[in-house]
Formats: sequence, structure tokens, C-alpha cells
Amino acid sequence: MAQIRVLPDRVANQIAAGEVIERPVAVVKELLENSLDAGATRVEIEFSKGGRSLIRIEDNGSGMQPDEALLAIERHATSKVREAADLLNITTFGFRGEALPSIASVSRFQLKTRPPLSQSGTELLINGGKLIHVRECGMPQGTRVEVAHLFNAVPARRKFLKTDNTEAAHIIHLAKVYAIAHPRTGFSLMENGRMVFDSPSCPSLKERVREIFGPVAVEDLMAVDAKDGDYRLRGLISRPGKGRSSRHDMITIVNRRPVTSSTLNQALIESYHSFLPRGRYPQAFLFLELDPKTVDVNVHPSKREVRFREAARLRGFVIRSLLQSIRPAAAPEVAGSRGTAAAAFPEAGDEGKAARLPPPSAPEKGGRGGGEPDPASYRRDARDPTPAGAAPDPDWKVKWRFLGHAQKGLAIFDSPSGIVLLDRRAAHQRILFEQLEKQYRDSNVPAQQLLIPVPFELDALGSAALLENLDFLNANGFEIAEFGRNFFRLEATPVWTSPEEGETLINDLVGLMKAGTFRKNKPLQAFTQLARLACQRSVRLDDSVSEKEVIELANRLMRCNNPLLSPLGRPTYIELGRNELDRRFYRNLAPSGNLW
Ligand code: ADP
Ligand code: MG
Repeated sequence: MAQIRVLPDRVANQIAAGEVIERPVAVVKELLENSLDAGATRVEIEFSKGGRSLIRIEDNGSGMQPDEALLAIERHATSKVREAADLLNITTFGFRGEALPSIASVSRFQLKTRPPLSQSGTELLINGGKLIHVRECGMPQGTRVEVAHLFNAVPARRKFLKTDNTEAAHIIHLAKVYAIAHPRTGFSLMENGRMVFDSPSCPSLKERVREIFGPVAVEDLMAVDAKDGDYRLRGLISRPGKGRSSRHDMITIVNRRPVTSSTLNQALIESYHSFLPRGRYPQAFLFLELDPKTVDVNVHPSKREVRFREAARLRGFVIRSLLQSIRPAAAPEVAGSRGTAAAAFPEAGDEGKAARLPPPSAPEKGGRGGGEPDPASYRRDARDPTPAGAAPDPDWKVKWRFLGHAQKGLAIFDSPSGIVLLDRRAAHQRILFEQLEKQYRDSNVPAQQLLIPVPFELDALGSAALLENLDFLNANGFEIAEFGRNFFRLEATPVWTSPEEGETLINDLVGLMKAGTFRKNKPLQAFTQLARLACQRSVRLDDSVSEKEVIELANRLMRCNNPLLSPLGRPTYIELGRNELDRRFYRNLAPSGNLW
């Protein structure tokens, strides 16, 4: 039998590193969390080559005495948990005391640290788990960790890393998420010597989101703020209809710890079920606060996933809270221009009377101080809860109020968040494109037989190209038959085109085929070309379109998978948000923001 041995620390650390430090972003996460646990009000992150060649994190937190620094790199050395019972009440990020030794065992690890009131700092250098030196150094208050040559000595792990770009994307996302979770803490992030973002301490979540995701993102968000017993849910979520194409923009933070939780994600998606087109997801920055005893963060090696003790109750609370914000924002449907503003934007309890627009977004604050994220700024643009009767409508409708037509094919609406200019042609094209897409997917493209088939002739090249793609066209609403060398007969066309246009259409298609952009071995690409052509040709704008039709057009557009762009990539509508309008009307006059 083999002998049983206790592993040397260095080997144990490298094994633990396999679990805790699976890739560069995990190093960033652990170091970042240590900085936040140390009470830092400013954290600088820098990395290069996807984190492989360098990760540097510097904070102005509590720092460590020389003996504490030496202890910190020992396995299971932590200042945060003393006994198992503490695990039930964790308020810090770290608690296992394995991050630093694990990282140091698979990299060249330099730690410099100085606590307040100390004259000098301490520098530790460790290479692949081996302590190289400990010495005094100059250092501002705080801690700086530099991790170089990550996984160099662990080829097995290095092999599993993705490209530098992918690893970098993970690091950038993580840094953004932590910056969102801690608006008061100043954060900066540099990649390969280039600043990705640099956000000072922010007075509110909204301000932080604006700093990191830009003003446009903020305009598409609205506030949530709800409380029930020991649960509190705050944050910013998508306005109805303003979803994203991926579910990666749902950021959930539990007791200040960014987490992934299927309970929270499902509650989010479900709440938006009737308020976003199919295939679109809400954007969310959700802060849940609850008794730390009712959430287990110790279920995942990197503590990313959490488990809730009363998942069902929590789920109910989250859905109710979200709907409280979503419903009133969505409830008003497109109203006719004869309607009053109140009809377009009813307020709870006093429909008819309250001819009031929704309150403007939170005014810009003067300076940026420290201080708590301002709860009032969460609440400021929350709408009143809707009356109990207003159930979500399965046929989603925009709540734009039609104002009139302008220019060439523009329809103008008043929306709760600003002014909307809808390009009717682009909207029609998007709707048609998605209709064709569906027919194509269902292999059911309706065709119309021509009363008199149209004969046509092509040159040799065109003829060869058409023959090559004949099956594809015939499966997509055309009926084309070959009758003799370079001679064809068009017998049916798809219903989206008019029979008289059939021949020009074929010529356009043959042009694309010759240019090589239309290939039957790439059917989806071929279909897209065909559908774009269809959209370009078949949309005729009618000048005498009624208000009802324009509103129906807007509704149909917003039910599309991608309502924002025409199939040719042009915007279907432009929304001048209230902030944008405010900026133009007021802020130009008052650049300092404190004229009033
Ligand atoms: P854990 O965070 O689970 O306690 P770590 O290995 O991450 O374990 O860190 C070990 C200890 O080192 C921490 O408990 C803390 O006392 C100290 N430490 C780590 N990073 C910092 C830092 N940036 N500033 C101050 N102290 C730190
Ligand atoms: Mg830690």
C-alpha cells in the first residue's frame, strides 16, 4: 500500500489554487475583495495580456504590519473568521484565508503594504510559493499586490486559459460589477497601459452607472426601491421595452457582494415577461439586502454563487418589487393625440385629474462627495405603483403619445422619457424583415402565381449563377424554370413583391450572385440578402396614413426581436431623452450646474 503523507504547504497551495484561482479574473476578484475588506476608498486595478503577464491592485485601505503581512501568506490565515459559527454571519468578502497563499504559489507575487501610523512599509516577494525576501520599503498607506507570470509554472492550468482578449473581457466585466456594487469607492481600471475607466467616489448608484456605462444607459433605466420585513431591494432596471439582447447585463448584488443567483435571475426575467419582446433581457443593477444568516455564500469555490434559505419567499418579493416599478411605467398605452397627457401617463389613484408628466430624472448633483449612496436618488424617479387592476398586457404596447407627422416619413411621439422620432420606412422594413425571417425559418414563404409567366434571358455568367441558386430561390417564394440555354421563365414570385417587379428583382439577385455575396452554401446569408432586398423594394410610404395606423406600426415594431435597427442597419427611431432635452435647454446656459 502507498504511504499516506501530509502534503507540503506549497503543494497544498497549488492544489487549492486550482479551485480558487482558475483564471486571471479570479486573482483580480480575490485581490479586489481584500482591498474592499480592508476599507479602501480608492482601488486601482491594472493588468496586461489578459492578466497573464501582470495584475496589479493597489488600495488605500488598512494595510498590514510586517508580521501580519507574513501571516497573510500562510494557508488558512485570515483576520476575518475565528470559528465555524462566524460562517453563519459573514459580512466580509474573504473568510477562508486561502487566496493570497494560493495566488503566490502559482505566480511571481509581490506584496507591499503599510498601515497608518507606521513609518515604513513591508515588501514581500514570493516566486512559485517560495519566499524570496522580506524587507522594508517606502509605500503610501495601503496595500499593493503585483502578480506576474501567472500560471507560468503550472502549464496544465495555462493550457486552459482562453485568448488574452477573452480573459481581459472577464476582468473588465468583473471590475465594472464591483465598481457598481461600491459606488462610494473610487475605482480605476487600466489595461495594457490604457485607461478603461476611472471613476471617483460617486454619490449614488445612478452616478456610478453613468460614469461606467454612459449617460445613454442611464436614460433607459428606472429605479426600484422596495422593502418587506428584512428584505430590501434597490437599484436600477430597464424601462419596459428597453431590453438588451443578452442576459449578461443583469447584475445582482447581495449584501454588497456581486453574485450570480438563479433565483434572482429567474425572478428578473419573469418580471419582464410581458414587458420585453421575446429574446430580449432586462438590464439590471439590483442590490438586495437581507439578513446574512439567511444566505449561504460558502457554496462555491470562488463564492460567486449564493444560496438563499427562503428562495421561494425571496422570489415572490423580488417579482412583486420589480413589477411595482415596471407596471406603472408600461401601463399607459399609445394614446391618441386627442387624449390628454393624463390618458397617456396615468398616475395611480387619480386618473384623469393628474395631467402630469412623469417626474424628470434626478437632477445632476453638484460636487461628488463621499457619503452613502443616496437612497433618495433611487426613489426620485420611481413611478407611483399602479392600481391593482392593471395587469400586464400580453400584447405589449408602447406608451408613446402620437403628436404628428413631419418631414419625409417621420412620426413624432411624446414618450414618458422624452420625444420619439420614428422613421416609418425603417420601421416597416424591420417588421417585414422579421416576418420574412419567420417564414424562412418555418420553410413557409407564400408565393403568388403569375397569370402570365415572364420569360427572361441572362448572359452565360448570370445564367450559371442563377442555376446554382435555383433551388434556394424556388424554396423561398419564387418559381423559376429553365427552358433552353440561358433562357428562364418566372412563374411565381414571393408575395412581398409585386408581380411586375419580378424580373428586376431577379436581375438584382443575379447581380448579387455574381458579386459573390449571395451563396447557396450559406443559406442564412443568402436569405438575409434576399430579405434586405425585399425590404428595400417593397416598402411604399403612404402619406395619408392614419394616426391609428402609425400607432399600430409603433406597436408592431416594438414587438420585433430587434426593434432598434432597420435590416439595413439604420435606426428605426431616435429618442431624445429628457436628460438630452434638459441638457440642450438648460445646461448650456449653466455649465457649472449651480446657476439656480
Ligand atoms: P481572506 O480574505 O479569506 O481572509 P486572504 O488570503 O485573501 O484571505 O487574505 C489573508 C489576510 O490578509 C486577510 O484576512 C487580511 O487580514 C490580510 N489582507 C489581505 N489583503 C489585504 C489588503 N489589501 N489590505 C489589508 N489586509 C489584507
Ligand atoms: Mg481574501
